[in-house]
Amino acid sequence: MTTPPDRWADMLGYLDDAAALIDLDPDVLARLRVPRRILEVAVPIQRDDGRAEVFTGWRVHHNTSRGPGKGGIRFHPALDRWEVSALAAAMTFKTALMDLPFGGAKGGVRYDPTALSLGELERVTRRYTWEILSLLGPDKDVPAPDVNTDGRVMGWLMDTISLARGENVSSSVTGKPTVIGGTEEHAGSTASGVVHVVRDVFGELGIPMAGSRVVVQGFGKVGAPLSFLLHSAGLRVVAVSDVGGAVYNPGGLDPAGLAEHAARTGSVAGFPGGDELNPSQLFAVASELAVPAALASTIDEVVAKTLAARVVVEAANGPTTAPGDAVLRSRGIVVVPDILANAGGVIDSYFEWAQNRQGVAWEQGVAGQLLQRIMHKAFDEVWTRARTHDVDLRRAAYAVATQRVADAMKARGLFP
Ligand code: NAD
Repeated sequence: MTTPPDRWADMLGYLDDAAALIDLDPDVLARLRVPRRILEVAVPIQRDDGRAEVFTGWRVHHNTSRGPGKGGIRFHPALDRWEVSALAAAMTFKTALMDLPFGGAKGGVRYDPTALSLGELERVTRRYTWEILSLLGPDKDVPAPDVNTDGRVMGWLMDTISLARGENVSSSVTGKPTVIGGTEEHAGSTASGVVHVVRDVFGELGIPMAGSRVVVQGFGKVGAPLSFLLHSAGLRVVAVSDVGGAVYNPGGLDPAGLAEHAARTGSVAGFPGGDELNPSQLFAVASELAVPAALASTIDEVVAKTLAARVVVEAANGPTTAPGDAVLRSRGIVVVPDILANAGGVIDSYFEWAQNRQGVAWEQGVAGQLLQRIMHKAFDEVWTRARTHDVDLRRAAYAVATQRVADAMKARGLFP
């Protein structure tokens, strides 16, 4: 690897901090500082006009000591191997923090899916899946949706894997449509998990849910249902942004109306139930809660200085840069880190994988209750660890997770 860009460097910083807190064996730390494997592939497809176009894709396994790799697949024009590696490492620590039997993986293709037709999107998905096939399987690596991928894309992935293997391998992918073994809950599970965490942290800080103000960045698969759930829990959603713009209403936006507007126009911008807001000012809107639910690194040093919330709950992966994190800490703003806050999705993926393997669908309601229990337990462990070490929640979360991964690595030993 060459000089790492910031996201990977930030990840190493969190890992180093955790290592110091738990007095981690330097040999284990050295192994965790390097992804286990990075597969880079060419993804050539035929465009609708007959031309060939070649994209680049990756699948990274950061660590698989606790179980098969688990992590989403992202289609984005700014993706690179460092971003994918940082996201894969975050999955190692997220699955460990939730005590799920998985390791950490992530993958994706660098391209803009909005510029392609549906047929082209399917060809990219299937060719990419074919190229990374040797890494995939229910006991090896189980992908799921992420930015710009959804149940439909997961259906194509599962079909390509199954055709290549000559057998139905439903448990090789999660976040699938329900007709091929997906769960009803998947779409909203990340958002539900975020709400459980908001309840827990507000409870600890003595902030009431009812009437509290929240700003949400991103109105996609996570941000949209989350806005609705927070509104239903009594919070006032005062500002929302997406890639097209932002809207603001100090009295509270109507998330259902906003979703209908965004579905019709492609963006929250121009929603008649609020005023236009410069998206760069979103986090400067006074609130009790700020939820980044879009892309990485949106809360940097500059944004952190004017962020006007008491609590940040990271629904997105890596939304706060390390310098931004330092500013928030110095200002006493409580940050619930991504590996804790947005784990609802991977927990539901675990339920889907388990049901596919059992060949039995669980009774309705079981998954929701179990998800709440797992997240609540993880929150308590992190909160307690933060008190014990007198550190912020991010360092505490990495300490708990790194200890679990290290224990698994020790138990397995170093081959040969
Ligand atoms: P998505 O593609 O469905 O939605 C992304 C949203 O972000 C869109 O509304 C888009 O307009 C918005 N956005 C993009 N650039 C923006 C910008 N510059 N400013 C403001 N908004 C912008 O993706 P998603 O699945 O909702 O994922 C969002 C985040 O949550 C990602 O960081 C992802 O890794 C993380 N996450 C997702 C899941 C899941 O289950 N989907 C689980 C855990 C974490």
